Amino acid sequence: MTAEISPARRRQVAILRRFVEVYCRRHHDGNAICPACQNLLDYALGRLVNCPRQPKPKCKDCPQSCYDEDYRRRMREVMRFSGMYFVRRGRLDWLLRYMLG
Ligand SMILES: [Zn+2]
Repeated sequence: MTAEISPARRRQVAILRRFVEVYCRRHHDGNAICPACQNLLDYALGRLVNCPRQPKPKCKDCPQSCYDEDYRRRMREVMRFSGMYFVRRGRLDWLLRYMLG
């Protein structure tokens, strides 16, 4: 956990959090992230921060996926839902920057 965090990775962390927030707010009403989603987020952030590969590949392109099956399934759902949410709101530019970044 002491590895230094690059700006790119810091941005990925912020985006991941945003994706989970959007998903949670629309599925588990409440203003804060619910415990289950917080747990998923913590897990994903842990994977992200501890990724041994530099630069980090997109998870779906990684030959050695480190997610447990259950978390992977939930995270995929969050990404799909929140991705569509941003696209519908015309935030495609933002999303593309993320995808390319
Ligand atoms: Zn939630």
